[in-house]
Amino acid sequence: MVRNLAAFSEAVTGADSSSLVEVRGQCVRHSEERDTPKMYCSAEGEWLVPIGKCVCSAGYEERRDACVACELGFYKSAPGDQLCARCPPHSHSAAPAAQACRCDLSYFRAALDPPSAACTRPPSAPVNLISSVNGTSVTLEWAPPLDRGGRSDITYNAVCRRCPWALGHCETCGGSTRFVPQQTSLVQASLLVANLLAHMNYSFWIEAVNGVSDLSPEPRRAAVVNITTNQAAPSQVVVIRQERAGQTSVSLLWQEPEQPNGIILEYEIKYYEKDKEMQSYSTLKAVTTRATVSGLKPGTRYVFQVRARTSAGCGRFSQAMEVETGKPRPRYDTRTIVWICLTLITGLVVLLLLVICKKRHCGYSKAFQHSDEEKMHYQNGQAPPPVFLPLHHPPGKIPEPQFYAEPHTYEEPGRAGRGFTREIEASRIHIEKIIGSGESGEVCYGHLQVPGQRDMPVAIKALKAGYTERQRRDFLSEASIMGQFDHPNIIRLEGVVTRGQLAMIVTEYMENGSLDTFLRTHDGQFTIMQLVGMLRGVGAGMRYLSDLGYVHRDLAARNVLVDGNLVCKVSDFGLSRVLEDDPDAAYTTTGGKIPIRWTAPEAIAFRTFSSASDVWSFGVVMWEVLAYGERPYWNMTNRDVISSVEEGYRLPAPMGCPRALHQLMLDCWHKDRAQRPRFSQIVSVLDTLIRSPESLRATATVNRCLAPTPALPTPAPPAPAALPACPRQGPDLVQALGWLCPDPWTRPSLVL
Ligand code: AMP
Repeated sequence: MVRNLAAFSEAVTGADSSSLVEVRGQCVRHSEERDTPKMYCSAEGEWLVPIGKCVCSAGYEERRDACVACELGFYKSAPGDQLCARCPPHSHSAAPAAQACRCDLSYFRAALDPPSAACTRPPSAPVNLISSVNGTSVTLEWAPPLDRGGRSDITYNAVCRRCPWALGHCETCGGSTRFVPQQTSLVQASLLVANLLAHMNYSFWIEAVNGVSDLSPEPRRAAVVNITTNQAAPSQVVVIRQERAGQTSVSLLWQEPEQPNGIILEYEIKYYEKDKEMQSYSTLKAVTTRATVSGLKPGTRYVFQVRARTSAGCGRFSQAMEVETGKPRPRYDTRTIVWICLTLITGLVVLLLLVICKKRHCGYSKAFQHSDEEKMHYQNGQAPPPVFLPLHHPPGKIPEPQFYAEPHTYEEPGRAGRGFTREIEASRIHIEKIIGSGESGEVCYGHLQVPGQRDMPVAIKALKAGYTERQRRDFLSEASIMGQFDHPNIIRLEGVVTRGQLAMIVTEYMENGSLDTFLRTHDGQFTIMQLVGMLRGVGAGMRYLSDLGYVHRDLAARNVLVDGNLVCKVSDFGLSRVLEDDPDAAYTTTGGKIPIRWTAPEAIAFRTFSSASDVWSFGVVMWEVLAYGERPYWNMTNRDVISSVEEGYRLPAPMGCPRALHQLMLDCWHKDRAQRPRFSQIVSVLDTLIRSPESLRATATVNRCLAPTPALPTPAPPAPAALPACPRQGPDLVQALGWLCPDPWTRPSLVL
């Protein structure tokens, strides 16, 4: 058979009824593995639990368990579930099984365009190019091209050509030409070109380009405008230097302006005393780029500026340059020098006398004080003693647990759970036989002497010898959890023996032992009503626990005990943890073993255990009960269980299982834990079924893929509108294929 595009050939079955043989599938032609395809062959010769799949290669699409080539005009670019797609506009496929469509003539695909993008072409030329000349600069503006070539990534480039004689003889503009904001890759449709030559013809080309312009061999289309610049004055003289400065003259040197815009007739030098420009200034003319200004005042700061003049007029003055003329040298005779020296010496002597006198007069000086000394004074003072805030809660202020006490929160291990357990004298216990063994030790059957009453049958769990203190504490913690419960469907703690080296937990005795073994040894011997009754008990016990905020984390038929009246009680609280006050909070553990087959996917993946994950486990217990202790997922590996559940498959209804019960299981196995029923809802559904036995008559074995009938009052799951109808091949095939049904809510498109 072909399943998920993988072909499975005949296989030899396992020997016994619960063994499954793993068979690898081969991908059909033109397909490739996505996840390793496999199925299990049961002892009855049925194919179970399809896992993994193949997908059609690029250029092929799935059609009736095969991969067929994409038709002409269609393509598929990558392997996968998707169908062939029609070639995008302006492209075509030349042959069947195309992985991409080729662009039509004159159309192109840019390097970053995906295969699904339409082919495009270069844009037409921009339109309405206009220019406005202002002296030696020009502003160009235009409108976007009428044909953008099917793309939106249009930019513009400007080409500048200078035509000194005629428009037919042009050359590229010189490097001094300035383009604002830039010459190429313009996003906006305007540009300023400056620093052009005066009285010159120019030709400007504006071309529009897009992502495929470089791919097209055709020349680019551009809008052209020709202009002539006006006559313009020379540009500013930029650099001006002082060559020499005397007492009454200054020599200056400067450079010709960058753009003379014609022949420079002369330079004009303007100069004035600093800060006196408004009062008067002088000018001097020069024909070369150097000049000497004379007739200046000595020792005076002057400001100089230079400008050029052509036939078009004067350019702008250069930046101001300041020069100070030299000071006149003083001339002194010998008498003056002697007089100056005497005055200086007298002055010095007077200053010396003054200093000495001041020192004498202010003879007291402040004592030197070390800065550390100050700190020491401070430290030796009456500084208040340091205050320590209490790290622990003051007595009587320890926050009270809302629902129950977590034994691990006790500081003193020996005290763990003392408030909830009763110490029993070892002498009052009479052990009679071993009935089982658990992880921590053996479980015995015996009697407990109760003063004034008849001996009570009890189960005694004893911690095996050689235990560590931690093992003893963990062992007794189960009792302290159990001791807080009081419900007919939760195993009752009679007491503990902790004196001396002993460590025993004494509970009520459950005649029929654990539920899974009990059902296996009584295969097919109960009515559906009896089985539902047992489940109702487990559900009621779990409702009680979840109301207290407990998360069991290990609910399984092996951890349910059955008494002589078929009353089921939840036991084994070794892994239990409390939920915090927040109703949405899920307790996250950091390690430990997880019973994969019974555990909700989110708890396996993220270790988020909650009452909702207990509900998932309850669904598995339901399946165990209806299958009389069969192992969930038979002998599949844990890895395969995880991946098949993750892929959306769910355990099928066991033989003879009422449809309503299987529906309830499927509800418990909702992928979204918020959509799973609460234990209170589960108990009320079971109660409703018990009250109306006819509702249990319709079994779910014939057609397991029926659209589920929502059985729960609230919350209502989303309407399974997209659920496919069952295959029409007949009940045999349906049975062969229908062992594991798709999760109706998470995988509505799966057809089995
Ligand atoms: P445990 O360590 O709690 O998983 O117990 C191991 C086995 O001892 C169980 O599978 C039961 O068969 C048996 N057992 C434990 N507790 C009781 C009880 N209260 N009454 C009868 N049998 C019990």
